[in-house]
Amino acid sequence: MTGAQNQTVALIVAGGEGTRAGPGIAKQYRMLNGQPVLRRSVEAYLNHPGVHSVRAVIRPEHRDLYESAIHGLKLLPPAFAGPTRQASVHSGLEAWADERPAKVLIHDAARPLVSADVIARVIAALDQSPGAMAAIPVADTLKRPGADGILETVPRAGLWRAQTPQGFHFNAILAAHRAATGSELTDDAAIAERAGIPVAPILGSALNLKLTEPEDFAMAEQLLTPSPFGLRMGTGFDVHRFGPGDHVWLNGIRIAHDHGLIGHSDADPGLHALTDAILGALCDGDIGTHFPPTDERWRGVPSELFLKHAGSLVSARGGRILHADVTLICERPKVAPHRLEMQARIENILSLAAGTISVKATTTEGLGFTGRREGIAAQAAATLWLPPFE
Ligand code: MG
Repeated sequence: MTGAQNQTVALIVAGGEGTRAGPGIAKQYRMLNGQPVLRRSVEAYLNHPGVHSVRAVIRPEHRDLYESAIHGLKLLPPAFAGPTRQASVHSGLEAWADERPAKVLIHDAARPLVSADVIARVIAALDQSPGAMAAIPVADTLKRPGADGILETVPRAGLWRAQTPQGFHFNAILAAHRAATGSELTDDAAIAERAGIPVAPILGSALNLKLTEPEDFAMAEQLLTPSPFGLRMGTGFDVHRFGPGDHVWLNGIRIAHDHGLIGHSDADPGLHALTDAILGALCDGDIGTHFPPTDERWRGVPSELFLKHAGSLVSARGGRILHADVTLICERPKVAPHRLEMQARIENILSLAAGTISVKATTTEGLGFTGRREGIAAQAAATLWLPPFE
């Protein structure tokens, strides 16, 4: 048993030529707010707790574009596109034919703004139905024009616009694709319908845009541009007590000292306070909620792991850390000589641009527990931006 039988995998379909969005490179590789469209789509699934692994279907001639778009991300090897969308998806599914995961989510690379909630709703629906697709009820009145004007107004009641992800029980959709070879159908729900697989419509999101025309890119850029409406600020505070040892970890830097700090992990108060500040801005509990001190897995681990996790939760929601400020409170060791290195270290852990993180230090003039050199305290404030998705 490999466990694959219980897994949900995601197939990101990036096999189109993608030229309708304008001249230049294919739309799935174009930059959207500083990142390739494909990378954003892939990350939405890689960061999703309900998804075990991710594979993309690409055109062989896009191999270099693909490699640079997904640089540093852990994906399964890509599958290669066929002459139609159906053939491309089929090729991606066949790559899992031996492992047979339980469920597969099929997602268009050109929908990079998909939210974690929409993905979760589709996964959950697959417990009740062999197929489920994100969709939204049609709100506009529908017209069918002819050569001389409108021929008819089409009743919109009961009509939905299909989006992705579309999720299926793996064996069922693989069999349906094997039987659909040569089909020109443009989505997998249609392949499923053709095979008699019930597909439940699940509420998607109007913000789960499909980037097709140049104006779609403009709209998506707008949605991803930080505005005052999505600004969040969180604060964090942490203390660790001195104990025996010859070094301390402060903001991810090892500093020689005549004491160590006592804690379940590496007892880095700066990174703990910052992790809590980010989690606070997300309204997502605190470091203990995510990494319980009773859990042996976190004994002695480097605290950068906690901070990275908090950062990935921000990315998973399409957000961005705009700035953070960490203050260490202690008499000793001297922080000033390490300040710049600490800033760079935190920026590196969170993959942030230089100038995003501030580190400061203060003493308490000999007063209180930090003044008595019993331990080190840290406080942090983090400002981040979350897009108005979900
Ligand atoms: Mg702590």
